[in-house]
Amino acid sequence: MSKVMIVTGASRGIGAAIAQLAAQRDFSVCINYARNAAIADAMVDQITQAGGKAIAVRADVSRKEEAVHLFQEVDSRLGTVDVLMNNAGIIGDPRLVEDLDPAALQQIFAVNVYGSFYCAGEAVKRMSTRYGGKGGAIVNLSSAAARHGGLPKEVAYAASKGALDSFTLALAKEVARDGVRVNAVRPGLIATDIHDAHGGREAIATLGATVPIGRPGAASEVAETALWLASPAASYIHGALIDVSGGR
Ligand code: NAP
Repeated sequence: MSKVMIVTGASRGIGAAIAQLAAQRDFSVCINYARNAAIADAMVDQITQAGGKAIAVRADVSRKEEAVHLFQEVDSRLGTVDVLMNNAGIIGDPRLVEDLDPAALQQIFAVNVYGSFYCAGEAVKRMSTRYGGKGGAIVNLSSAAARHGGLPKEVAYAASKGALDSFTLALAKEVARDGVRVNAVRPGLIATDIHDAHGGREAIATLGATVPIGRPGAASEVAETALWLASPAASYIHGALIDVSGGR
């Protein structure tokens, strides 16, 4: 029987690449999204037509009750989750620290950090052997910005990813004996819509040339690492923060 994977923020970018690769590797996939129903539904059609199994569920993961609803939908429509990809994330408008208003700061941490906590909590309740589960894997999509500080005016974003790294290390210890492996992927500069606030594809191309490897990364390259971390091939990898950043 196929394993069940939830990918938060899977309507675009890295999340979409993870969901597509997971479907090719025989996972039943839940494509979570916040607003883009049409794109998420089109992905479900594409996966289904290729012989896979997928559902799309709208849920703003920064709201606890919506994160709970996401997992309940998966319970009833796909079965118990085996892998959680905590991928949904936002950069927010670029701001110097003195110009950050509390609502903007709150929103960045609510999506990037609180959303990952809420989803991980729901996943642990279902995966952990402490609750009668059969184990599983959680992969948090952090960022290389957690260690290098990110692009200019990304203080809030970089700090939120630093929190996600610490969460990964702490949660890995918390569930280490419960059959749940927890790791993080830290992408570098990856060509997706998230950079629209920083000049979009043009800026990605310019910045990409400064990356040691000489180019920006593709979402599919991050997806390969995330899928590997969730697979039995990574059975002794636990509490690791894996950079996928072209040397940056
Ligand atoms: P993206 O292209 O902007 O896509 C973001 C996805 O997250 C979309 O599917 C969006 O849904 C969803 N989303 C946003 N807020 C949400 C919420 N509150 N609840 C549920 N879903 C929500 O982003 P990306 O570049 O693929 O980034 C994915 C992850 O990788 C993020 O955590 C990001 O921080 C991390 N990352 C990215 C890069 C990079 O260079 N791209 C580098 C390092 C780390 P809608 O389509 O419905 O809006």
